[in-house]
Amino acid sequence: MSKFLSSKYATLEPYTPGEQPKTRVLTKLNTNESPFPPAPEVVEAVREAAKVLQLYPDPDCTELRKVIAKVYDVDPDMILCNNGSDEGLYFAFLAYCDSSRPAVFPEISYGFYPVFANITDVAYREVPLKDDFSIDPEDYYDAEGTIFIANPNAPTGIPLTRNQIEDILRSNPGNIVVIDEAYVDFGTESAVPLTSRYDNLLVIQTFSKSRSLAGMRLGYVIGNKDLIADLNALRFSTNPYNIDRLAMAAGIASLEHDEINRAHCRTVMENREYTVAELAKRGFVMTNSTANFIFVRHPEVSGEVIFHKLRERGVIVRHFTKPKIAEYNRITIGSRDQMDILLRELDEILAEEL
Ligand code: PMP
Repeated sequence: MSKFLSSKYATLEPYTPGEQPKTRVLTKLNTNESPFPPAPEVVEAVREAAKVLQLYPDPDCTELRKVIAKVYDVDPDMILCNNGSDEGLYFAFLAYCDSSRPAVFPEISYGFYPVFANITDVAYREVPLKDDFSIDPEDYYDAEGTIFIANPNAPTGIPLTRNQIEDILRSNPGNIVVIDEAYVDFGTESAVPLTSRYDNLLVIQTFSKSRSLAGMRLGYVIGNKDLIADLNALRFSTNPYNIDRLAMAAGIASLEHDEINRAHCRTVMENREYTVAELAKRGFVMTNSTANFIFVRHPEVSGEVIFHKLRERGVIVRHFTKPKIAEYNRITIGSRDQMDILLRELDEILAEEL
């Protein structure tokens, strides 16, 4: 850090994204990307949009919001588009947390939540998970703060039902509840249908995972019109052109061909069930994940050893050092071929270690 950096940021601990290797990696299973490229129609739409890059994009994102609204059967005024759903989360921290409203989120969850709390200078309360790593909804009743819950949770992959989310909403009429649905399309019930009935709910989704557009940076928030107006005020105060022309075109084309995305999600879910069954045969223990990743440990081989040995063999997974989860690795579900490579390498590692 330079001597000029504001003292406000002296203790800043930035979020560490999963590694994006610069050299060729055989099997990349560390940042929950889709193993499938976007549909050819999406690539074509981006190519067309590139022809008018001399012009600023539509700051209201009118067409994209219309298409998203149709998919989710909500009013376009209930949608805000973001430069990745991380930006939507950041706006929610800015808008709904302050000295009288701390952020409240699970102790084990998306590592960006405490980072957003720190940079927005708000206190936060981390709520422990149950012993089986699930979230107890009752822990969030009358939360006295703004609630952030990833559903399914990350890195555990364990979901709450829509009814459980609704119970949290009902018991927090004076608090905003943000449901981060980055991984919802791989088998979790979405809370979007509740957005028309609860004025304290924001649902955040992304094109990064289930729609194969992590490289494009496109997410959206769905919620009551007044909440979306709040977030828009922040957006127009920071970056009104947050969605560039390429991302807008990609998003529209992706939703116009959403059946391809759905089919890819089904394949990922099949590959997840296959991988879970194969790992169980080898003695691995896992949470019951409804995400495009699984959270795995072996009772006899440490999580760190498995992480490093896989890496040496060209398979990258995600390892977290928080003591409660240090024995685990989070493994992205990729193509069947990638899963077979993972299993083959794990077999060899187990043969060495056991
Ligand atoms: N929420 C969760 C729980 C995530 O794991 C991620 C991906 N790192 C995000 C939000 C952000 O995704 P993106 O900014 O790519 O939309």
